[in-house]
Amino acid sequence: MGKKMLIIGGGISGLSAGCYAQMNGYETETFERNPVPGGLCTSWERQGYTIDGCIHWLVGTRPGSPFFKLWQELGVDLSDAVRFETFYQVEDGDQTAILRGDLDKLQAHLCRISPEDSHRIERILDWARAFAALDFPVEQPRDLMNFSDGLKLLWSMRPFVKTMRYLQSRTIEEECSRMESDLIRRVFTRYIPEQYSMTALVSTLASLHKGDAGFPRGGSKRLAEDMAQRYRQLGGALHCAKPVKRIAVRGDRAVGIELEDGSQVSGDLVVSSVDAHFALEELLEGKYTPPEMGRYFRELPTFTSAQISFGINANLCAEPHTLFYRLPEPMVLAGVRHKNMGFRHYCYDPSLTPAGKTLVTCSIFSDYDHWQELKKDGKRYQQEKERLAAQVQEQLEARFPKAKGNVEMVDVATPLTYQRYTNVWRGSYMGFVVGPKQGRVRIPWELPEVGNLFLIGQWFDTMPGLPGSMLTGRYMVQRLCRREERPFFSAPRPAELAPSSQ
Ligand SMILES: Cc1cc2nc3c(=O)[nH]c(=O)nc-3n(C[C@H](O)[C@H](O)[C@H](O)COP(=O)(O)OP(=O)(O)OC[C@H]3O[C@@H](n4cnc5c(N)ncnc54)[C@H](O)[C@@H]3O)c2cc1C
Repeated sequence: MGKKMLIIGGGISGLSAGCYAQMNGYETETFERNPVPGGLCTSWERQGYTIDGCIHWLVGTRPGSPFFKLWQELGVDLSDAVRFETFYQVEDGDQTAILRGDLDKLQAHLCRISPEDSHRIERILDWARAFAALDFPVEQPRDLMNFSDGLKLLWSMRPFVKTMRYLQSRTIEEECSRMESDLIRRVFTRYIPEQYSMTALVSTLASLHKGDAGFPRGGSKRLAEDMAQRYRQLGGALHCAKPVKRIAVRGDRAVGIELEDGSQVSGDLVVSSVDAHFALEELLEGKYTPPEMGRYFRELPTFTSAQISFGINANLCAEPHTLFYRLPEPMVLAGVRHKNMGFRHYCYDPSLTPAGKTLVTCSIFSDYDHWQELKKDGKRYQQEKERLAAQVQEQLEARFPKAKGNVEMVDVATPLTYQRYTNVWRGSYMGFVVGPKQGRVRIPWELPEVGNLFLIGQWFDTMPGLPGSMLTGRYMVQRLCRREERPFFSAPRPAELAPSSQ
């Protein structure tokens, strides 16, 4: 029998850790607080509509790309994923700009709109082209690369070292503020928080160009279900509706977990894939929080939003699937002043919507503290949700007259919804926002005072979103294998290498 590993949390990082650990001979059990796995990567049903609460785009949808291969190892087949030719449309009065995946067409289109920005547009898109020509290796963490792998990586990146340094040092906001045309500036700043470095923007444009940033058919819940199925096939035990209350520490080692129902489970290794703040402050009762993590929680910015979803008994599929436009007048929505509005419909995946109808969502940047304050009085919180839905619906019907009188389902998720469902700190579903202004951020995946305990998940990788979360699970298992001086497998281990025969 291999070592017994207890994994807390069945989100994407926990499922990834579970799959790779099973492939490498560990005997794992995963404890998830919700009735279904997936965590933040989820969808929910309302009146026949499947509301996707997560994926707008997923990196790894191009067959053969580095992430495609890793998703495949985890049971996720993205070969039929939706690949976007156009990513979104931005409108300003009677002017329209479209963010296309094809960088040459995008350049011609944007330069036609604003010839005076041509050299700035070209500069950004040239960086994206350079990124698109590279497939950054993601299979193992940098700290495990041997000398020759490290050298190979450095060599392949040689022409870009200067550019990379520059992109890392500039926020999207700084770089794009130079645009003469407000419309062009908005094309580049609509989608990724502007405090992120230019690397985030350029690498996303490169992924789009290569068809590597798409939408998995069936959406977020399906992705999580596929991973959970793979985990079970590999022999992992997934216990849903089993919230963990505490990580048991004896002396200087983690020795097991205590569940909310009072039962205790012991193990050789404990992996926490839950929200970092919750793990350190609740599951470990704040006794072992490293000082730098305390500082990061106090000082680093986070990002959250509210999602308002509408089920519409009309076909709006001829509209651009994702659209941003300037509001006639700025509006205060849930405590934040907004100048722009954005809508997305999901016609590209008909499995999410009843035939002939349209699911439209609106995501707005939101203030966690505003909702937290309202929550003290449940009635006011509910009223604010209804008010927000009514304000957004008015905009929806003004922009899409076909929706008027046909809205038959309304659903509002706030930052507190994400927190209630997954314990995520301040509703922050991308971990810390780490951009050039934050300097060097090093997030420890082990605690100096507690052995046999590993921390993974979105907070422990600086690549935001699902790919980064997934990688933390893989990297943790790779580091363990290296420590135990045995090879790492990314498929079920051959029988002759099973631990009992070693
Ligand atoms: C609105 C929204 C849009 C997003 N858009 C994208 C996108 O377009 N592309 C992209 O790549 N990413 C996107 N993300 C981000 C992505 O979903 C997350 O980064 C990722 O899912 C985090 O995975 P995780 O495993 O680290 O954390 P989580 O998903 O938080 O997993 C932690 C798990 O632990 C469980 N848990 C918590 N407490 C306990 C406990 N006490 N006991 C047992 N289990 C517990 C939780 O229920 C959860 O299942 C989006 C997220 C949201 C919410």
